[in-house]
Amino acid sequence: MRTPYGQECRYYYADFNRGRNEQLCQLVEANPASEPWIPDVCKECPVPSIVRANACEHMQLRGRVVKGFLGFGRKMIIEAYCAKVQRKVDEPHVGCGECHGDSQIASLFNE
Ligand code: SF4
Repeated sequence: MRTPYGQECRYYYADFNRGRNEQLCQLVEANPASEPWIPDVCKECPVPSIVRANACEHMQLRGRVVKGFLGFGRKMIIEAYCAKVQRKVDEPHVGCGECHGDSQIASLFNE
């Protein structure tokens, strides 16, 4: 579903049918440690670009909203984890490097 800022995001949900006004981020909903989500968080959220760049089935994302400097604004903090090698992924756009090594990079250049 498309967020209010135009990115396609698998975690965004909205229902405006028949007078409803429901919007939520399912990634934040799954994390009770998060500050409350508001649609403005989507504006600078890295998740849509991470998912576009890295579709690895083993990578799991965890997101939480934090308040900005002096409590103004909110932003999304993302942690990524590889369920295959069972470790944190430092660069979610790239992945942990286990499955998508030299062979995938070579295939990108050969297309
Ligand atoms: S905050 Fe990020 S993950 Fe959540 S719905 Fe918006 S773009 Fe998607």
